Amino acid sequence: MIRLLPLVALLSLACGASRPAAPGAGLPSYRARTDPGLRTLSVRACFEGAPPDFLVPGLRAGRDLLDTAVADGRPVPLGADGLDLRDLPAGTCVDYTVDLRALSAASESRGVGLYLSPTRVTRPGLWLWRPADASGLHARLRFEVPADLRVSHPWPVDAEGAARLNPDAFANRSRVVFGRFPARSLPAGGGWLDVAVLGDDIAAGDAAVDAWLTAAGDGVARVYGGLPAPRVQVLLMVVPGAGVHFGTTMRGGGPGVMLLVGQASSPADLADDWTASHELFHLGMPPVQSVDAWFFEGFTTYYTYVAMARAGTLTPRQAWGRLHDGFRRGRGAGTGRTLADESASMQRTGAYWRVYWGGAAMALRADVALRRRGRSLDEVMRFWQRWSQQPGAPWKAEALLRRADRHLGAAVLEPLADALLAESDFPAVQPTYEALGLKAQGPRAVRLQPAPAAGLRDAIMDAGSDPSAAPR
Ligand SMILES: [Zn+2]
Repeated sequence: MIRLLPLVALLSLACGASRPAAPGAGLPSYRARTDPGLRTLSVRACFEGAPPDFLVPGLRAGRDLLDTAVADGRPVPLGADGLDLRDLPAGTCVDYTVDLRALSAASESRGVGLYLSPTRVTRPGLWLWRPADASGLHARLRFEVPADLRVSHPWPVDAEGAARLNPDAFANRSRVVFGRFPARSLPAGGGWLDVAVLGDDIAAGDAAVDAWLTAAGDGVARVYGGLPAPRVQVLLMVVPGAGVHFGTTMRGGGPGVMLLVGQASSPADLADDWTASHELFHLGMPPVQSVDAWFFEGFTTYYTYVAMARAGTLTPRQAWGRLHDGFRRGRGAGTGRTLADESASMQRTGAYWRVYWGGAAMALRADVALRRRGRSLDEVMRFWQRWSQQPGAPWKAEALLRRADRHLGAAVLEPLADALLAESDFPAVQPTYEALGLKAQGPRAVRLQPAPAAGLRDAIMDAGSDPSAAPR
């Protein structure tokens, strides 16, 4: 799978962390409008009481995209510190415009936007001007677009139809899409996937696309007990080729997943894809500091295939075969460092397989150790999920492991991680294979045979109860 390495490299960049959010500050309200030709984005920002001294974009490149800014009919000067509002009275509103085509071009670094006409994919950090200190900032944002245009965004909507932006919306990345594109909400795992298809129709057809995404959501929900959030924005960016080329997770004030899908993808290409399960699974994990990639990528990689088996996308034997293949590739990769050091230096060394699959092997061993005690890693994932939506991120993996052990009433996870992180050999899985009755059949397949702990093996991939049946 030649595309895997650059794909994984990009994925890991995406699996970053968020900053803590403190409550407080005023409640600015924004209104964003586009014209029918998608030429201009016109934004109005109004402030209760005195306005802040300056407004700045979340991403510095947004300064170059600003066309005009006026307040009370007069131009607002743009200086080194941002738009200067110091002379403006309380209750003021600032109107500014951005060229939407230039904004869209600046928002996607890999030229993806070129394929997606007639839509404009934007990073809010480039156009949502806010006070320089946005920590703790909450805001409302109302979209006003012509009736034949849609807006896709990841934010919750209040009773009046306005998007509610929490501090993460200003601190973390997200995408807002304007344009004419098919959109539908799919029920999955007790929640909803708000899907927008950007670009040409995918050859597999809508039914196959929906079945693929629904299965991914259902599989992930069979780990967490429900979709990681009540609603998840899913952006499908349709690009040339077949198969799913790239996926990423976004946490900018609401959960989002972006997937680059080849236009020529067949139903089989989509059914074979692991990316959607992987990215949706990430959304249930707490944001963790990037040096602990072994933790958030490793556990996600393990559960990607577990979730696909639980959704029925893979048979248990196929899922074990995928894990076996990954462990083999991880074992053959790396730079001779300990897993802890490989993880901390992964972005520099490119030892992605070693870190992802070393962490996945640890997750398997942790799951089996817990199941021998009548517990499971599922239980721990659900325990950790409580931290996925709370301030305090990015977490240290060590802290999460310690909290989980305390929850379990036994030192299981932290000692295992301490031992495996200090090894420069790939985590051993052969004793686990023997206990579970997994017999390697070449590099990519395993046979399932009778063994003392075969029941644990089968329980790991078992679909269990349907989480969508239980309201959350
Ligand atoms: Zn990942």
